[in-house]
Amino acid sequence: MADTLLIIDDSSTMRRIVKRTVRMSGLSFSETFEAESGEQGFEKLSADAIDVVLCDVNMTGMSGIEMVRKVRTELPERKDTRIIMVTTESSAAFVAEAMKAGADGYISKPFTPEKFTEKLTPLL
Ligand SMILES: [Mg+2]
Repeated sequence: MADTLLIIDDSSTMRRIVKRTVRMSGLSFSETFEAESGEQGFEKLSADAIDVVLCDVNMTGMSGIEMVRKVRTELPERKDTRIIMVTTESSAAFVAEAMKAGADGYISKPFTPEKFTEKLTPLL
């Protein structure tokens, strides 16, 4: 059974690009959802068991890091949801912060379909 995907990004253009890149990567998801803020992403995760989340970091309002931390702290029932940060930031300090918050990995921008395959396949 294919997994469900949630794309969280405050840019609709970026959500479209991520969606297209996932499609080009050959990975298949049974359903793809979108959220335009960390708050909306958290709400979706509170309501539904999503398998994989691709989450932007820099968003107005709740940041991606804050969202991951909130999910890990407040939604123990979503412990198996794999959350991948999609970000321009890939410094060691950032990666450490994201992992500490509870992220399962990160994909740096600009990304390619191959990068998606490489980072997501082990998690599916
Ligand atoms: Mg953003």
